[in-house]
Amino acid sequence: MADAPQQPAGGRAAMQMQLAAKFKDYRHVWVFVEIERGCVHPVSWELMGEGRKLADDLGVDLCAVVLGPRTDDTKAAISQTYHYGADICYICEDPLLADYRNEPYTRALTGLVDKYQPEILLLGATPLGRDLAGSVATMLQTGLTADSTELRIADDKSLAATRPTFGGTLLCTIHTLNHRPQMATVRPRVMAMPEPDRSRTGRMVWHSLGMAEGDIVTKVLEFVSDARIEKANLAYADIVVAGGMGLRQPGNLALVQRLAEVVGGEWGVSRPLVQKGWAPAERQIGQTGTTIRPRLYIAAGISGAIQHRVGVEGSDLIVAINTDPDARIFDVAHLGVVADALTILPALADAFARRLP
Ligand code: FAD
Repeated sequence: MADAPQQPAGGRAAMQMQLAAKFKDYRHVWVFVEIERGCVHPVSWELMGEGRKLADDLGVDLCAVVLGPRTDDTKAAISQTYHYGADICYICEDPLLADYRNEPYTRALTGLVDKYQPEILLLGATPLGRDLAGSVATMLQTGLTADSTELRIADDKSLAATRPTFGGTLLCTIHTLNHRPQMATVRPRVMAMPEPDRSRTGRMVWHSLGMAEGDIVTKVLEFVSDARIEKANLAYADIVVAGGMGLRQPGNLALVQRLAEVVGGEWGVSRPLVQKGWAPAERQIGQTGTTIRPRLYIAAGISGAIQHRVGVEGSDLIVAINTDPDARIFDVAHLGVVADALTILPALADAFARRLP
């Protein structure tokens, strides 16, 4: 919910003064640290890196929020928040927070926000983060910019959250002017991972949940692992090889998979291949798929539509193979090969197989 300023008499300057007075008690930048089954999602640290820059621009503290049961994993996560830049860590430890459930997590986070009043609250755009951010923003009746690709502090000190719109053909920048906190979610790998400083420490602030199991409608009966399902780790892979419609037929996806396997990387596809049922959705790269930031990205037979490019342009080295020398993918590629991918992919795989142990 982004909102337009309600312009009072006296114009823009008067309106800004009114808003500043209204929000004078809201300070600091918060990042929700997502822990699921004992593991911190790396997007939390990516957001800490971004949050640090915002906090420094505003001259305020960067604060982490850790919710979970009292375990060694939670304790380790708290220490790590300082390594990744937090000055203060707000902690709510309760057995009811062991498995993610919307009600207790929303209660814990909204309770903390009501009490300590942050001006900015960031969450990862993961399944858990999206679920939580939506309900927290609704409970707090504030604005939330989902899937932001850029965050910065505007001249009027509000958060300027940019995200793609109209199917990725336009970027819009959203300000939440009339409500606090200003909330945004960011997808994994959109922001760079900061270097941890293991010498840093900070302050801890404890908060109690104030809920009983009987207050929670959702019950976790069993956790069913999806370990049997082949899982893509595209977002955090060092090497990604992807194929597009230039592969021509589903059987040729095996050429992409073989090269990825030989170089120890992950494989992915452009969206039409998912739509045609050639590959599962978790393999799709791009705006409506996964954002990747590998050290090496090889795009074979992919035209380079904007919706694909936004998901790959954070890669260190992009190698594009395309028969069309004018393909848009060459605009972002560091190395372009104008050739038939059906010939180049197996040749590369054979060459690497000979040279790699
Ligand atoms: P094409 O555009 O058909 O391009 C095929 C390319 O292969 C061409 O450049 C051609 O020159 C080349 N080629 C042909 N034969 C060969 C060969 N033998 N060897 C080498 N090259 C060859 N797309 C995504 O990928 N990810 C997304 O997340 C995504 N989200 C979208 C969201 C929305 C709202 C919309 C509207 C679209 C989205 N798209 C997304 C689709 C996107 O706009 C493009 O349609 C899509 O990326 C095109 O896929 P492609 O490059 O594989 O196919």
